[in-house]
Amino acid sequence: MNNLDLIDSICGTCGKEVGLIELRAYVNDGYSNASAINYFDVFMCPRCKSGSVLNMKLPYRQGRSDMEVQMLKDSAVNNRDMYVLSPGPLPMPRVKNLPDDIESAWEEVLNAGGASAWTAAELMCRKILMHVSVDQFDMEAGLSFASYVKKLDEERFFPRMMMPVVDGIRERGNRATHDLASTTREQAMKTLDVTHHVLRTIYEISI
Ligand SMILES: [Zn+2]
Repeated sequence: MNNLDLIDSICGTCGKEVGLIELRAYVNDGYSNASAINYFDVFMCPRCKSGSVLNMKLPYRQGRSDMEVQMLKDSAVNNRDMYVLSPGPLPMPRVKNLPDDIESAWEEVLNAGGASAWTAAELMCRKILMHVSVDQFDMEAGLSFASYVKKLDEERFFPRMMMPVVDGIRERGNRATHDLASTTREQAMKTLDVTHHVLRTIYEISI
């Protein structure tokens, strides 16, 4: 569980899984007509020593005690939608031994996710899964997303327990591309998880 002294994160600068350490917090609530308390906090990565800034707005109510504000902050920091961390934490780890083109595509996924651009991150994951299928199994380019996922499944990339998630992203994949439906963080993270699993299996573990 996170608290305001330490936030578990994948550092947006060096990509390592770390606990970001709090250096200094600021609270701006001195305005008489304020509707929110502006709270920001500076954190440092213990690995690369770079800084990240956390910004959040807490609902303002006159006369709220310091202890109440502290409780609000502690609960908000455990809800990823309540604050913005810059640079954004990477949503998934980097993968070793990737070919250059896939590495830059995966980096784009991580940056998009780090900036909460979940639809862009998910679309890029689909491109990666198609690319991998063409590359590894001599599949034709330009087929449906479902056919590439089916091929990866036939090649036993997915453990049985992962299949409900895989089926979910395959079905949504075929729907969302043409109707511009946007993606939630939760849905996109499933696609990122599956893509990470495939990339690790091919390039990091199989070597
Ligand atoms: Zn770092």
